[in-house]
Amino acid sequence: MTRSTVSDAVAELKSDGMIAEVGVGLSKSGKPPILLRFVDEARCLIGIDLAESEFRGAVINLRGEIKHRLHWPINTDRREGLLSSISELIDHLLLLAPSPVLGIGIGTPGLVDSERGIVRYAANLDWREFELGDWLARRYHVPIHIANDSQAAALAEFTFGNNGNEPNLIVIHICRGIGAGIVLNRRLFVGDRFGAGELGHVVIAESGELCRCGHRGCLETVIGSEALVRSAQKIAAGDPASLLHRFVRSPEEISIEVISRALEAGDEALKSLINGAGRFLGIALANLVGILNVHRLVIAGGAACLGPALLEPVRQEIKRRSLPALADETIVEFTRLGPDIVILGAAALLLNNELQLP
Ligand SMILES: [Zn+2]
Repeated sequence: MTRSTVSDAVAELKSDGMIAEVGVGLSKSGKPPILLRFVDEARCLIGIDLAESEFRGAVINLRGEIKHRLHWPINTDRREGLLSSISELIDHLLLLAPSPVLGIGIGTPGLVDSERGIVRYAANLDWREFELGDWLARRYHVPIHIANDSQAAALAEFTFGNNGNEPNLIVIHICRGIGAGIVLNRRLFVGDRFGAGELGHVVIAESGELCRCGHRGCLETVIGSEALVRSAQKIAAGDPASLLHRFVRSPEEISIEVISRALEAGDEALKSLINGAGRFLGIALANLVGILNVHRLVIAGGAACLGPALLEPVRQEIKRRSLPALADETIVEFTRLGPDIVILGAAALLLNNELQLP
């Protein structure tokens, strides 16, 4: 860029409050250079995660740092209830925003047409061809971007995670549903009709449990968080000595976090439940390794707290079921971004789409 192009860009960013002068640098000859930095708080982002059993949202700065976080109960009373939960959450976050809002990013379960802001199908929220983007745009006069939750998680891992400078990455997001977010050549790969990575309804256990999609034995019925909680409740109900009883007063209180604590305390029945789920997940992932040869697989979502009881069988099955040369190079690990990964992905979606520097 020429000197004058740089000056123009700097002047524009400065007048927008996006950058600030922080002093004067050393000069080899002539006028000393002015040092500039980005103002992290110049704008803020609203990131929303609709994938869990409660809605979650945050106000985030331009550096991807969460400034305020809210968890919101879901009003499940038909579509209007769901939508009012979402708008209440957004309204409260907007009140907390310390600077102009760059936009609202949403990570939602289901098949999502990100270009048009349409949720094509989301079984958990009972949405079909729902124009969520338009619905939000009528209420909030800022840019709105919507992506599938697993795809948002992959974007978060790619933008804020520990991926070195690798161009490819797969995030397996396990909460109520399961999906894989796939980054290839530094771009989110969504497939021909936005359904890339829809692993949750791949049938993996012949004559397994009935799934809400109508099939039996989908991956989701084995390792989705609700499936794991149901199985753990059966273990607790059938065994008064189960370590689960140490952490809850009744089986209804069991959650993935409770399962994780009882596992750490050494509960053998839970260990074999999670090992079994991990093996099924490993079978599904071995196929991905064979097809895409992506080196780094990151597990995120509620299941990321299940430790080696989940991770080891996944690694073993990938080793057992894919070409040794490929399996040896494959790293499977838990995300370090924690439970905020979808919220951060929604923020990354906004940064990618809205922060076009001059
Ligand atoms: Zn299914």
